[in-house]
Amino acid sequence: MEITVANLPRRVNRRIRQTKRHRYLDTTHNDSFPFELLQSSMTHVLQIKNLHVSVGDKPILRGVNLTLNHGETHALMGPNGSGKSTLGLAIMGHPGYDVTDGSITLDGEDVLAMSPDERARAGIFMAFQRPMAVPGVKMADFLRHATTNVRRPDRKEGEELIPMREFRKELKEKMAHLRMDEEFARRYVNDGFSGGEMKRAEILQLAMLQPKFAVLDETDSGLDADAVRLASESIAEIGHQKMGLLIITHHDKLLEHNPPQYTHVMLGGRLVETGGSELAEELHRHGYDRIRKAYPEAEAANQEMLAEETAV
Ligand code: ADP
Ligand code: MG
Repeated sequence: MEITVANLPRRVNRRIRQTKRHRYLDTTHNDSFPFELLQSSMTHVLQIKNLHVSVGDKPILRGVNLTLNHGETHALMGPNGSGKSTLGLAIMGHPGYDVTDGSITLDGEDVLAMSPDERARAGIFMAFQRPMAVPGVKMADFLRHATTNVRRPDRKEGEELIPMREFRKELKEKMAHLRMDEEFARRYVNDGFSGGEMKRAEILQLAMLQPKFAVLDETDSGLDADAVRLASESIAEIGHQKMGLLIITHHDKLLEHNPPQYTHVMLGGRLVETGGSELAEELHRHGYDRIRKAYPEAEAANQEMLAEETAV
């Protein structure tokens, strides 16, 4: 990220204003420049410790540990029903997913104490596997609200939004960049969208909101190979280095332009293995047989969850 006075955090700006003798900000010759504050404000971390999550009285996650640093890309893989979406939904604070033990913190702040709205304002974003349609609300209006809220977390409902002209300009630029038709912004959110359009809508949100951390849940599902490649390119262009990304995927093409530094494998509600990008490649090529055999207890838990699912 380019560092300008305008995008420094408020507390840093305050300290700069206090050093009035400098008319120009010369960071190399200014002893009072608060480098340590700047540093600490740039290295965000989302930390998940011993996370247990239940839906109703059914335990799903059974002790997940994951540290996601700003600037890193992590792939989250695992067979169906292993708990990948549940992890994302618990991070976002979905009310149906009860955290029964463990913690989630963002830069040391207790995320579990925040409402879903507060989590979004704090810079956490999730692209859902099955996003909701909101007939009657246009993409552009929705994005203007969401973007204002994330950029001005203290804004109260009903207070002014980002000025229309400014917002339109930015939206237009981002859509052109993502090779999206302008007409798209005038449609109702996800209403009658094809699978591909829904995913593109999520990527546009990601581009506008510029969250600190994003969970992308199967942004590839239902897309053909070209659409997945475009999604992968778009995510890379938005700048995966400018956020911490957790990419849940079954498709190696989605990782093509976003090679993960870490790959985690979930089975039976636990992360049973962590490796580099070569682990993602192995799983794409050979599937989960090796994993299922290596972790029989987790495999049994996974089967049990699936059996309950079909019993319901
Ligand atoms: P994945 O995304 O890895 O396929 P999920 O997190 O969607 O797995 O699901 C993990 C397990 O939790 C499954 O057995 C699923 O049936 C169960 N589960 C998830 N969400 C719900 C829910 N809302 N109601 C009931 N069971 C759920
Ligand atoms: Mg899922």
